[in-house]
Amino acid sequence: MTVPSPAGRVFEVQARDGEARAGVLRTARGEIRTPVFMPVGTKATVKTLHPDEVRDLGAQILLGNTYHLHFRPGDELIHELGGLHRFMAWDGPILTDSGGFQVFSLRDTIVRVDDDGVTFRNVYDGRPTRFSPELAVRIQANLGSDIAMCLDQVPAAGVSHRQLEEAVRRTTDWARRQRDAPRADGQLQFGITQGGVDPELRRRSTEEIAALGFDGNAIGGLAIGEDRGAMFETTDWAAALLPADRPRYFMGIGDPEGILEVIEAGVDMFDCVLPTRTARTGSALTGTGRINLRNARFARDQGPLEDGCDCPACVRFTRAYIRHLVNQNELLGLRLLSLHNLRFLLELTRAARSAIERGEFDSYKRGVLERLQWTYS
Ligand SMILES: [Zn+2]
Repeated sequence: MTVPSPAGRVFEVQARDGEARAGVLRTARGEIRTPVFMPVGTKATVKTLHPDEVRDLGAQILLGNTYHLHFRPGDELIHELGGLHRFMAWDGPILTDSGGFQVFSLRDTIVRVDDDGVTFRNVYDGRPTRFSPELAVRIQANLGSDIAMCLDQVPAAGVSHRQLEEAVRRTTDWARRQRDAPRADGQLQFGITQGGVDPELRRRSTEEIAALGFDGNAIGGLAIGEDRGAMFETTDWAAALLPADRPRYFMGIGDPEGILEVIEAGVDMFDCVLPTRTARTGSALTGTGRINLRNARFARDQGPLEDGCDCPACVRFTRAYIRHLVNQNELLGLRLLSLHNLRFLLELTRAARSAIERGEFDSYKRGVLERLQWTYS
């Protein structure tokens, strides 16, 4: 179904198929067609790849990381050098994560969490460091990203109800403070919901964050080790509670099944380190599953990583050659696998959008999942 919508808005839904949406998100550095998979460039680089290669694969927006860039090389230095886009020579849109996930996932490094912020020993020199909502805004203003995320409190999967409730309360308080703090010109700001898979707390967080009127809203605190069925079930109803006229972002999902499940629930944006991390293990993502090139069965395999793939690895190189590179720890092997894996997920997402436009998302999803003999693990 094509949906008429006023032009000039930050986000416009152009077609809908069930809850799934195809839309356009307008940022200071260009339009993004959704659903969109966002490659992760944690330390101002998508590991091993040139930004032109990343763009040629079909990437429309990259992720940068507040936590890491704050410490190395420093957000003030990046600001002095003209901002993150200029620093990394990527002129397309950039979304910066707030650092909340890094701070709270490195649990052993946390010294204290209170209503004002969080103190932790940073991974670079071990010194106690204080992050506050206001600092997260300031760092992202220095970086000059197109989309800034709120600092949230991310509790571990399976914490007590009381701890989960405290994280929800704090995440809303911090979100309000960040909404009211000054940020970079033209920078969009997204809120993040918490509440784990607890129906009451997830609903409360979703309603409170939605009420603050951010440019977009993220579903946070999922895909962190909870039961996968419960995660999808929560996403199904929680996504629908977020404002329909704003983009919805599921943080940290990137396997084919996960991507299609959250798109079906009405999510527009997602990110994951899976393609580059999988490459570093010597593995390729394919339509039938994950293949490990170290396996001896590829020694004489003259085929590409994936039949029909148009990426720079598949149009020219054989599995046998890439296996050799991987086994010898040659950097080209890592690069070719990264190029292919990113292309695979970007193309999966592009095809999902096209299926939504045709009103055939359900059959597209079923077709992909039937071929896939592999689920996320
Ligand atoms: Zn390929």
